[in-house]
Amino acid sequence: MVEEAELRHLRRCVELAAEALADGDEPFGSVLAGADGTALAEDRNRVAGGDRTRHPEFALARWAAANLTPEERAAATVYTSGEHCPMCAAAHAWVGLGRIVYASSAGQLVSWLAELGAPAAPVRPLPIQEVAPGVVVEGPVPELAEQVRALHRRFYSAR
Ligand code: ZN
Repeated sequence: MVEEAELRHLRRCVELAAEALADGDEPFGSVLAGADGTALAEDRNRVAGGDRTRHPEFALARWAAANLTPEERAAATVYTSGEHCPMCAAAHAWVGLGRIVYASSAGQLVSWLAELGAPAAPVRPLPIQEVAPGVVVEGPVPELAEQVRALHRRFYSAR
């Protein structure tokens, strides 16, 4: 169940994705919130410089490992505009982070990118729970997923 207060974090993720797009990057954004719901860190995609591992969920996992105790990590929630890829799902689980809430799913992204004629990714788009079965996952959120879809459409129509 995605609470109203959580939608605020998801909307921020979509804003961050739009910032990434405005900066010529792929539209993905994420927010890490502590147990009380306070946003602790946020990031967006930074792959345009050539390092294709610079996904926000990966950056937040590393930030959490450096800045939070294991207990704080387990109680934290990561909000994200698009479901974690396998690399980020693995990083999330390896550092012991808690729940994930996403606006749009990996399955949705695959179908949108296919429609847009985007090249196939080098990594299989597995659902988070196939990579990290212990992580509680919620999403997608339909009205926000539509916004994310529009950002991807803009990214690929600009190519
Ligand atoms: Zn990723």
